[in-house]
Amino acid sequence: MALIVQKYGGTSVANPDRIANVANRVAKGWRDGNRMVVVLSAMAGETDRLINLAKELAEDPDPRELDVLLATGEQVTVSLFSMFLRSQGVPATSLLSHQARIYTDRTYGRARILGIDTGRIREELKKNRIVTLAGFQGVDEVGNITTLGRGGSDTTAVAVAASLKADLCEIYTDVDGIYTTDPRICPKARKLDRIAYDEILEMSSLGAKVLEIRSVGFARRYGVPLVVRSSFTDQPGTLVTVEDAEMEIVPVTGVALSRNDARVTITRVPDRPGVAMHLFRPVADANIVVDMIIQNTSIEGFTDLTFTVPQGDLKKTLELMAPVAREIGAQQVLSDENIAKVSIVGVGMKNNAGVAAKMFEALAAEGINILMISTSEIKISCIIQDKYGELAVRTLHDAFGLENPPPKKK
Ligand code: ADP
Ligand code: ASP
Ligand code: MG
Repeated sequence: MALIVQKYGGTSVANPDRIANVANRVAKGWRDGNRMVVVLSAMAGETDRLINLAKELAEDPDPRELDVLLATGEQVTVSLFSMFLRSQGVPATSLLSHQARIYTDRTYGRARILGIDTGRIREELKKNRIVTLAGFQGVDEVGNITTLGRGGSDTTAVAVAASLKADLCEIYTDVDGIYTTDPRICPKARKLDRIAYDEILEMSSLGAKVLEIRSVGFARRYGVPLVVRSSFTDQPGTLVTVEDAEMEIVPVTGVALSRNDARVTITRVPDRPGVAMHLFRPVADANIVVDMIIQNTSIEGFTDLTFTVPQGDLKKTLELMAPVAREIGAQQVLSDENIAKVSIVGVGMKNNAGVAAKMFEALAAEGINILMISTSEIKISCIIQDKYGELAVRTLHDAFGLENPPPKKK
C-alpha cells in the first residue's frame, strides 16, 4: 500500500466528463489499496476568466481581494470531484487551504508555502477517504487567503507530497511527460524518460511551464519522487530524478522559450561607482526580479545599461527608473516588450566545449540577431526579437539533434 499524491491540471478537469474520468482513475488507485491525496487546479481558462472579471471592475485589483476571487476556481473543482466520487460510493473529502492547513506568507499573488500541518489530511486518510485538496491556494497566519502564483497547483502537490513523505507525486497534465522542448512549438520534440532536477529547474525558470519552478525546488530539496504524465493516456511519463553519468553524455537536454520578459535600456549613464546601486536598489525593494544585466564598456565616461524584468513588472520598473535616471544624469530610459528568451539547458554542458558557439552559429544561419546573452553552468540564454522565438526553438532543437535519443553509456 502506497501513499500517492496526484495533481491534475486545468485541462484534465476542464468539464464534468473529464472530472469524472480523472476521478475514476483516482478511485482505481484507491481500490487497489493505495492512500490517495489529489490536488486539483481550476477548470482550464477559469483563472484567466476570474482575472478578466476583476479587471472589469478595478484597473489594478487589490491583491488581497484578487486572491479571494482566484481561490474560488479550485474550490469548484475539488467539490465537484469529491461529489462525483461520493455519488459512486467512494468516500472522498474536499479540503480548502485553511482546512488542509497550508500556511503561506502574505505575498498575495505569489505567496510562499511556509509549512503544512498535515494532521487533518492524515485524519481523513486514516478514515480510508480520498482527500481532494484545492491547489494554488494557501492561508496566512491570521487566516487571509493567498495564492501561490500561476501554475501554483504543482507546488501545492509537491509540498504536500514532501510533508506527507509520500511514496510518489504524480503531476498529470495534457502532454505525456517532459519533452526536449514544448511539443506544441516543435513537432520533433521527444519525450524524455528521465530528467535531472537541475535541468527541469532551469527549464521551468526559463519558460517551460510544464512544471512550476517552485514545485521543482521543493522536489529537489526534499527528494520527492516526481513523475509528469498524461491524464488522457496510460503512458509512463517522465521521472524527475538526481543527475547521473548517463545524463551528462549529451551537452543539451532541452530548449526553452519565454515570452514574458521586457528589456529596459538606460542610455548615457555616467560611469562612476555607485550608479548601478542607485538604479537597482529601488527595483529590488519593489520585489522585482531583474534577470539579465549588461553594461557596455564606457566611452568618455558614459555607458549604456540594459536589463530584463518580467513584462508584468515593466510599468512599475519604468516608474521607479524615471526619477533615478534623472537624478544620476542619464540620458533616456527605453523599453522593449517585443523580445523572447530562448535557452538551451543540459547538465552535460559542463563537460562539453563549443556549445555556445554552436548555438550562435545555428541562430545566425537563420538570420536571427542576438540582443543579449547570459550563461550559467548548465544553460545558455539569448534574448532575440519576439517574432523569431518559435523559429529559434526549432532551429536549436535541430542543431543539437534533440529528436534522436542519446547514445547509452558504454
Ligand atoms: P496544466 O494545466 O496541466 O498544469 P500547463 O499548461 O501548465 O498544464 O503545462 C503543460 C504544457 O506545458 C503543455 O501543454 C506544453 O505546451 C507546455 N510545455 C512547455 N515546455 C514543455 C516541455 N519541455 N515538455 C512538455 N510540455 C511543455
Ligand atoms: N489555476 C491556477 C492557474 O491557472 C493554478 C494552476 O492551475 O496550477 O494558474
Ligand atoms: Mg501548470
